[in-house]
Amino acid sequence: MLGLSELAPRVLQSEIRAMSVACDAVGGVNLAQGVCDTEVPQVVAEGAQRAIRDGHNIYTRMDGIARLRRAVADKVERTTGVRVEAEGEVLVTSGASGALHAAAMALFNPGDEVLLFEPFYGYHWNTLRSMRVTPMVVPMASPAPGATGWGLDLERVRAAVTARTRGLVINTPSNPAGKVFTRAEMEGLAEIAREHDLFVLTDEIYEYFVYGDAEHVSPFSIEGMRERTILMSGFSKTFSVTGWRVGYLVADKRWIPSIGYFHDLTYVCAPAPFQHGCAAGLEELGQTFYARLAMEHEGKRTMLVEALRAAGMKPDVPDGAYYILADASRIEGATGAEKARALLRATGVAAVAGSAFFAHRAGERNRGAELLRFCFAKKDGDLEEACRRLRGLGPG
Ligand code: PMP
Repeated sequence: MLGLSELAPRVLQSEIRAMSVACDAVGGVNLAQGVCDTEVPQVVAEGAQRAIRDGHNIYTRMDGIARLRRAVADKVERTTGVRVEAEGEVLVTSGASGALHAAAMALFNPGDEVLLFEPFYGYHWNTLRSMRVTPMVVPMASPAPGATGWGLDLERVRAAVTARTRGLVINTPSNPAGKVFTRAEMEGLAEIAREHDLFVLTDEIYEYFVYGDAEHVSPFSIEGMRERTILMSGFSKTFSVTGWRVGYLVADKRWIPSIGYFHDLTYVCAPAPFQHGCAAGLEELGQTFYARLAMEHEGKRTMLVEALRAAGMKPDVPDGAYYILADASRIEGATGAEKARALLRATGVAAVAGSAFFAHRAGERNRGAELLRFCFAKKDGDLEEACRRLRGLGPG
């Protein structure tokens, strides 16, 4: 009989995509999706164009072109202080998403448990579920009224570990909370991982979007963590090329061949000319580029925080990434999805229901039901327009 797999009915249409469609339909300003429509650096765009003209249009080696693997190894070595070999320890992937998919296929079995910190990025949850791996959600404490920053309780993390736990997924800086895990938190997590022999999969796609005094710390750089850390990142955000599908994974030699096998099976390779474009970016863009990127986004963060405050939505000020979670209790609607639609109707600004980033617990109200997530990685003109419309709501 024709039918869907056991898992298929549980995979819901992404609320983020749904809001983007609703936003387009009314010609609104889309702060729902993390599409980052800022400029692609010229060296990156030209690098890809040149590669197409030079004939780099066929499959690459399954772990990516040597030039990009070398540039990634140098970069990771420079930023973490850990020696990385371009031959055997780097895998170029179809974005950070492809990296997680391949790593989870290679490292986990159905029924294994993997810890996730809530609020979490939906793809992390869904990717694990799609492999019949069980995400075990460890809630982070929401900021106290008037304060900012989500709290991680290491004792709670330790208590969530069972005999079936095989790993944990960290996202720093995080989507949607903008949490930048501190060195102390990272050391605490590393200790738990070593104690229980767990893999640490770390999604660092927002590594350069860090504000104020916050500092990006990778678990890869922590003593004794090299063999168990699977570092995943990419260029979607840093170079504003979400549609190119180029990312990478760095891990111990023991894991790369099997992770590469699964990556090859699904994606074959990341797009060849775009690998060249990203390599050119890594080779040629220096510290000033990354510092400017952070500074520009810090300015956008301030702009949106102020507009949300003026709209009576008590935003949490993120230390990293480019999203803001704000309190939507003043917006009508029983669920987050209804509130997002009500806000779109009232202002023409699209945001995402916070509930998309929290687990559904039977009989309990979703922790994200009163929250909306706004993305500020927008061109200044669009962001200014969104802010003007939000301010129009008044303080409530
Ligand atoms: N990880 C996180 C935490 C993200 O927010 C996103 C983009 N929304 C991705 C990964 C996707 O990265 P990529 O385009 O490299 O697959």
